[in-house]
Amino acid sequence: MTDRKGFLQIYNTLSGKKEKFEPLHENFVGMYVCGPTLYSEPHMGNMRTFINFDLIYRYLLHLNYKVKYVRNITDAGHITNSAGDEVDSIGKAARMEQIQPLEIVYKYNLNFIELQRIYNLLMPSIEPTATAHIQEQIEIIEQIISNGYAYLINGSVYFDTKKYMQDFDYGILSGRKVDELENDTRILNAQEEKRFFADFALWKKAGQDDMQIWRSPWGNGNPGWHIECTAMSTKYLGKHFDIHGGGMDLKFPHHEDEIAQSCSSLGCNPAKYWMHANMLNVNGQKMSKSLGNFFLPKEIIAGETALFKKAYSADVIRFFMMQAHYRSTLDFTEDALNAAEKGYERLMESLSLLENVSCNDSSSLEIKKLVDSFYYAMNDDFNAPILIANLFEAVKQINLLTEGKITCTAEDKEELKNQLGGFIFNVLGLKGNTTNSDGKLNPVMDLVLDLRQEARSKKDWATSDKIRDGLAAAGIEVKDGNNETTWR
Ligand code: AMP
Ligand code: ZN
Repeated sequence: MTDRKGFLQIYNTLSGKKEKFEPLHENFVGMYVCGPTLYSEPHMGNMRTFINFDLIYRYLLHLNYKVKYVRNITDAGHITNSAGDEVDSIGKAARMEQIQPLEIVYKYNLNFIELQRIYNLLMPSIEPTATAHIQEQIEIIEQIISNGYAYLINGSVYFDTKKYMQDFDYGILSGRKVDELENDTRILNAQEEKRFFADFALWKKAGQDDMQIWRSPWGNGNPGWHIECTAMSTKYLGKHFDIHGGGMDLKFPHHEDEIAQSCSSLGCNPAKYWMHANMLNVNGQKMSKSLGNFFLPKEIIAGETALFKKAYSADVIRFFMMQAHYRSTLDFTEDALNAAEKGYERLMESLSLLENVSCNDSSSLEIKKLVDSFYYAMNDDFNAPILIANLFEAVKQINLLTEGKITCTAEDKEELKNQLGGFIFNVLGLKGNTTNSDGKLNPVMDLVLDLRQEARSKKDWATSDKIRDGLAAAGIEVKDGNNETTWR
């Protein structure tokens, strides 16, 4: 295979432009992506970000890079919510469900693993947790204090933003300058112990309600939100690595503060390329738990959202998401989903048509041009929508081959099959149609639906939901009518 590595361009949020991708070590990529806070089921918006980074991971692998992909799990700490308050979301969920914080995390981690299987995400190389890296977080905080960029007050440690700004550029990533922030952010109120409104907690003294508490040189407490990513990315990828990613909403303050922590403790910006995936919106508004405008990844494949009349397979949803560039916002609408479903069917159908194309001694198929166009799209900052448009150019050619209007050699046919398979399944991460053309699935489905009926009659909803969700994930839609259950 031609080496296509040298042509990849990545949009770097740090410079605000597309740059040639030149990893720090030849053929190796270190990538850190901020993972989920496991206090509840991730919504479809969260999944979009993880699916986008899965696409990026898959394409880097496709280019034959050896990738170390680190995605953390936030299972401790106080997260800043959209109102700017610091909330211990895991502790809050644990109190509500009357279980231990790590039981909450375990429960939702199992759920997250299942979602990744359903939506065909590759597992990262490592998924470190914040609670397993408290010591590393403490060590970085100690380094920041000893370098003079943090202060201790009442058993909590805060980052000294004013001091940092004398030596470094705070706002280098997000472009948000503290002067501007001062105007549009709430003024520090009397109860707040930090010295300056832009300072942020590196370590918080234990509060009365805290369920997760650790010992530290500053007394009992728990880490601030941003420090875990600095500790874990440094531990697994070193102080300077290739790619740091996350959702656009993490650019500020989370990633800006990660940069400040790294510069003030280790002396450098942690990542060469900063990548941000854009938001999934509902009617133009960011999907979020706090706005209540969210739906869950399992609800949409089970046809249980209020927004859509029917269920869509996980493959169709993934395909739909790939039709928007990762840096563009995406709105879920019924019309767009239905169009994606049709397009998906057409793409899969053309793969079977290609199987039956008969070959010739000469070829009028422009195979090189087609394959180049697939790489060209993805090398342009992972442009999946353009890739899909180019895949449909191949669909047109397959139709012409089927109609006998153009010809191809066996060699070209094999190459087209391999390239389409590589981009559709390995890069876009689609699983392919469930076909039942030979009827072999019928007895299996009879058995599965009998088991589901049995579970339902015993009111064992957990089992019946598991069967339904599993079938939906495999692209099989089950409909319960008055007298019978049908599937397709
Ligand atoms: P959280 O579990 O809240 O830390 O979020 C996990 C990831 O989901 C982060 O990278 C967020 O940026 C991302 N995220 C949150 N809401 C959305 C949304 N509506 N669309 C896309 N990504 C989102
Ligand atoms: Zn992070």
